[in-house]
Amino acid sequence: MTERASTSTPPRLTIEVIPTSLHGKSPREVSGKAWWDRNRRRAYQAAGYRCEICGGVGKRHPVEAHERYEYDEASRPPCQRLVGLIALCPACHAVKHLYRTHAVSIEQNDPLIYEDALRHLAQVNGWEEAQVHEYLHEIRQTFLRREALGQWTHDFHAFPGE
Ligand SMILES: [Zn+2]
Repeated sequence: MTERASTSTPPRLTIEVIPTSLHGKSPREVSGKAWWDRNRRRAYQAAGYRCEICGGVGKRHPVEAHERYEYDEASRPPCQRLVGLIALCPACHAVKHLYRTHAVSIEQNDPLIYEDALRHLAQVNGWEEAQVHEYLHEIRQTFLRREALGQWTHDFHAFPGE
């Protein structure tokens, strides 16, 4: 028997659903490399160089920085708000960007890259395969809903960084 993936409490590890109109507009790209390097290093230090979601570390480097966002779908235009940076192990980061990970998996003709990401998603959230598929369906709906809202704007004021 499988339980339904809960929609009320967000799972520990989630997939980032970035509207395509915001591609190329991350703070890393907008605020520049110096800003990014300064602030990602602070995030690594604050996290003790361990993943803030699963506690793990990568083989080649321990952690990577990921932007934390809130998505205001009710505002017009809809708004993506940067609320901070989080240190993630490469495995959790690959799940955050599952669409990109899928594309890389196809590009490199290595299905294991994608399968590993799905396995990590299941493991961190304590999910059965059915719950993973249910969540992927949910994420697809979120993506379509955000796309249907048209051109998004972003707001970096909540986290100006250093
Ligand atoms: Zn992790």
